[in-house]
Parts: sequence; C-alpha cells; structure tokens
Amino acid sequence: MEVDYIIVGMGLAGIAFSKKLLAEKKSFVVFENESQHSSTVAGGVYNPIVLKRFTPVWDAAMQLKIALPFYGELEKTLQAKYTHTLPIHRIFKSIQEQNNWFVACDKPLMQDYMLPTVGTDKNQGLVSDFGVGKLVNTGRVDTKSLLKDYRSFLMGKGLLKMESFEYDAVEHIESSIKYKGITAGHIVFCEGYGMLKNPWFKDLPMQEAKGELITIHAPALKTDYLIKASVFVMPIGNDLYKVGATFNWKDKTNTPTLAGKEELLMKLDMFLTCPYQVVDHVAGIRPTVKDRRPLVGVHPVYKNLAILNGLGTRGVMIAPQAANQLYDFLEHQIAIPKEVCIGRFKA
Ligand SMILES: Cc1cc2nc3c(=O)[nH]c(=O)nc-3n(C[C@H](O)[C@H](O)[C@H](O)COP(=O)(O)OP(=O)(O)OC[C@H]3O[C@@H](n4cnc5c(N)ncnc54)[C@H](O)[C@@H]3O)c2cc1C
Repeated sequence: MEVDYIIVGMGLAGIAFSKKLLAEKKSFVVFENESQHSSTVAGGVYNPIVLKRFTPVWDAAMQLKIALPFYGELEKTLQAKYTHTLPIHRIFKSIQEQNNWFVACDKPLMQDYMLPTVGTDKNQGLVSDFGVGKLVNTGRVDTKSLLKDYRSFLMGKGLLKMESFEYDAVEHIESSIKYKGITAGHIVFCEGYGMLKNPWFKDLPMQEAKGELITIHAPALKTDYLIKASVFVMPIGNDLYKVGATFNWKDKTNTPTLAGKEELLMKLDMFLTCPYQVVDHVAGIRPTVKDRRPLVGVHPVYKNLAILNGLGTRGVMIAPQAANQLYDFLEHQIAIPKEVCIGRFKA
C-alpha cells in the first residue's frame, strides 16, 4: 500500500489534518489506539476572550475565521450538527471586576464579543451579587459526537486503523518511509499527550494538564447560556450541564478522581443553589506547551516526520489553523510562523 501520509492519532489535530488532506485529494491512512481522551471529553467551547483577565486570546480572530467554516464543512460532510452558538455569562466577583470589564469592552476585538453593561442573571438557582458580564458570538462544538462520526466516516472509507502505531516498526528509506507494508511520503504525529512516547518528538517541552469534568442533571436550572464563575456550567440539552474543568499538573492518568469531583462540586456550590445530580464524570490530558503555543513542524533530521500537537486548552479554535500551517509547509514550503514552529525550542 502506498500513501502520501500516515497520521498517528485521531483527536482534533488528526481530524484537522486529515480533513485538509481530503480537501487536497492526498491519500492517507490514520492510526488510532484510544490511549488519550482529551478531544472526547473536551467542553468544546470556543471563545476569543480570556475570562480571567478580559484580554484577547492569542491570534483568536484569525483562528475563528478558519475554524468556524471548518466545522461547518464537517457538518455538511457528516450531515449532523456539532456547533452550537452559546452566549456566556461571566459572574463578577467584585466591583473591581465590573470596572475591568468596562475597560476591556472598549478595545477593538472585544467589542464584537463583550456587551458593555453589567447584566443581571435572574435565574433563581444562581448567586451573582455583583452581576454578570455577557459575551456573544461564542459557542461550543460537540467534540465527542464529531469525533465518533468522523471516525466512522473514515472507517467507512477504509482510512482508519484502530490500532497502536508502533514507533520501532518505522523504516526510513531515502525520501519516504516504510511502516508495516505501507510506504508513505510523510508521517504526521497528532498524538496529544501520547507524544511523550514518540522517540522523535518526546523531548519537546509539553506541560500536560489533566482536566476533569462532571455532567449534572439540574431540571430547575433553565439556562441556554454558559455560566462562568470559578468553574463553567454549560447546557448540553435535556436539563444536562457540563461542569468543569479542573487543572492538575501532576497526575498524568486519564482516570476521573474523587478529589477532582470534590473540587468541582465545592466550586459549583459557591454559586449554584438549585438541586442537581451528578450523572457523569470524565477526565483527559490537555497537551499543553510551556509557552502555551502549538507544536507544528518537522523533525530536524528526518524531514518526513512531522508533528501537530500542543493544542493546549483551546484545541477547537487552534487545530484547523495549525493543520493548514503544517500542510502548507510540507506541500508548498511556506514557512511555519515562528511562534508555533517547533524550531523555537532548538538549543
Ligand atoms: C477536561 C478538558 C476540557 C477541555 N475543554 C476544552 C474546551 O472547552 N475548548 C477547547 O478548545 N479545548 C478544550 N480542551 C482541550 C482540547 O481537548 C485539546 O486541545 C484537544 O482535544 C487536543 O487534541 P489532540 O488531537 O491534539 O489530542 P488528543 O485529543 O489527545 O488526541 C490524540 C489522539 O492520538 C491517539 N494516539 C496517541 N498515541 C497513539 C499511538 N501510538 N497510536 C495510535 N494512536 C495514538 C490518542 O488515542 C488520541 O485519540 C479540554 C481538554 C480537557 C481535558
């Protein structure tokens, strides 16, 4: 079998790169071993404003310009709805935060998203003594359903192998690569936290962050917007809400923990007063990088080994743009922007 590309990993990075290959009529095969769950458990929120400090997210305007049509095209291909517009209510903690909100609202990108008022949240189940700041044009992608459907779509075309990619089975032969009977022009590694097992890229400075999320059933909480306080509460339909997420920099497992759940419940109970029941609890590891920028590029020696990783806490927005940047480099030698290129970590 001969292909242009082998892709290792079918999370958001793998979806973004393989979709680009389909659009460009390149041949490929994907390997996926279900060792990581970040894209499956993700909240899927896209929002170009940092809700802690009310500052713009790095390169957000450009990322969204690419990401929104990208998910729209996937919806057409897969004939299902994954993107949902979702306003955000940021609960203020103090008068100082209200003031900071107004200062931020005046800045250029922010005007498109932040409403310049202190709103009230009339919902009986919520404590918001200092009011809320309202964001519009924000949303969420149902990454779990997208991933499930996209994997079935590739499987139907014979392009997805649900098996572990074994690094020591790779043979380098002149300008191409051989892997278990497959000859490929390039391998693109999209392994998320799995990168740490990759002999060619494991030394890149990933600072992986475990995240846990619970789902609650709260019939009295009738909100159709995301509430953001010390944790977020996001409606997903049928009176269900995702609540998250924790950040743990030490635990490197994908297992939900009692400590994670207790932390979420403690934070939730500070502002949610209506009754609820926990119905689900998941965990995953965010592939976060020291400088909070993606990892895009090729190996310094083996030029046909490439990486698309480091999507951190914002894979939904970043993945489509980063995939295009990698593709443009591999196929058209267009330089990868310095701030995302793995070359920035060379000694
Ligand atoms: C709790 C939580 C909440 C989040 N919320 C949001 C959010 O609201 N918005 C947002 O934008 N982002 C969010 N994120 C971050 C987002 O999930 C990540 O940025 C993104 O999913 C990373 O995608 P990825 O494809 O790089 O990695 P992954 O999703 O980890 O995918 C990598 C894939 O590679 C596979 N793999 C690894 N090694 C091998 C191998 N040797 N052989 C075969 N397959 C292999 C794994 O099984 C996995 O499927 C959240 C993350 C977590 C954990």
